[in-house]
Amino acid sequence: MYERSRELFEQSRQLIPGGVNSPVRAFGAVGGVPVFIREGRGARVVDVDGREYVDYVGSWGPLILGHAHPEVLAAVSDAASRGLSFGAPTELELRMAQLLTRSLPSLEQVRLVSSGTEAVMSALRLARGFTGRSVIVKFEGCYHGHSDFLLVKAGSGALTFGNPTSAGVPAELTVHTLVLDYNDPQQVDDAFRRYGDDIAAVVLEPVAGNMNFVRPSAEFIQGLRAACTKHGALLIFDEVMTGFRVGPQGAQGIFGVRPDLTTLGKVIGGGMPVGAFGGRREIMEKLAPMGPVYQAGTLSGNPVAVSAGLATLERVLQPGFFDRLGETTAALVAGLCRAASEAGVAFSGASLGGMFGVFFRAQPPRSFAEVMQCDREAFRRFFHGMLERGIYFAPSAYEAGFVSSAHGEPELAATFAAARESFALARGP
Ligand SMILES: *Cc1c(COP(=O)(O)O)cnc(C)c1O
Repeated sequence: MYERSRELFEQSRQLIPGGVNSPVRAFGAVGGVPVFIREGRGARVVDVDGREYVDYVGSWGPLILGHAHPEVLAAVSDAASRGLSFGAPTELELRMAQLLTRSLPSLEQVRLVSSGTEAVMSALRLARGFTGRSVIVKFEGCYHGHSDFLLVKAGSGALTFGNPTSAGVPAELTVHTLVLDYNDPQQVDDAFRRYGDDIAAVVLEPVAGNMNFVRPSAEFIQGLRAACTKHGALLIFDEVMTGFRVGPQGAQGIFGVRPDLTTLGKVIGGGMPVGAFGGRREIMEKLAPMGPVYQAGTLSGNPVAVSAGLATLERVLQPGFFDRLGETTAALVAGLCRAASEAGVAFSGASLGGMFGVFFRAQPPRSFAEVMQCDREAFRRFFHGMLERGIYFAPSAYEAGFVSSAHGEPELAATFAAARESFALARGP
């Protein structure tokens, strides 16, 4: 069924570590051969064996308009025809800055970079430069890219500093990172009581999408704002995934919390490499060339990449876009839950805007520990059942899913038909 993918994977493994350029693509969590994609259009992708799939990965978030959107492609070829990169300012970058600062009221200034990793890494350097403090608070299960001091898991006690989760990260680089449990306001209070004068910033995914999908409680997210303000620490929303994905003002618009800094990526590049970080003017003006915090990039603000992002955002910001997207996503989750219940499988789901989580567990999880309680074996059987039936979910039980504006009734119907059979498989022998 996956012959050509198998061949290409074998060859790739000789030349590319694990055969992939980003680990989760290797299907390590679900087993089997990763599907090599030949092309995509709208809500669907086609693999190298010619099999078509309804795609709920969407390049892991960016493709909110679906694959190969004609107007995005037109903007890209128009920009490309005038040159690929200049290393000098362009009007496109100004337009992107205008669009981002108008959409997110917490952004007074913004700087463009080329990935989410870069955006968060730079925002944290800036937070440390601005506050003159060193400690960063993060939450278990939140992913903020692969910079050294963020590849860290909780230490041995709740309020001890973290340990590296990757080889190659010296322990000295993670001694300033405190890792707490998501949705636990008490731990946040304790951390500030103990280390308040040293905490430069608290960084979080305001809806966690890298440990499947976990919503913040109002108490948690508002408590973070209050604690940061009280202790002079910066609150950083990592909206690389949620920005223009859950709503036109990101998660901060939905929860009514104003962070000091915000990081963006994924949707703002529309499938091209664009990241951004921004926030309060007095903080952003500490960046070079105005201030002492250094940050730079040869391809930052690349005109071709930015043109894809602009064309995407212009469509995403049209009135009613998120109403329709949210309805489609909620209908998907409801249909999956119905199919699971008919098959007698313990299952739940949740969504916000065009982002969703499905859990082999009776209730949606609220922390990393609860995410870890989901039935991974059931997910694995469900995943392969769906893949064989032409439905492409993320190949891991710990990833959120994504719906695009190209998904509609036919895609949902195909998904539910496949799900009815796949839930029976998930139940096991
Ligand atoms: C994807 C992601 C990143 C990393 O972005 P890259 O472009 O892969 O470097 C950082 N933070 C969050 C919340 C993300 O979802």
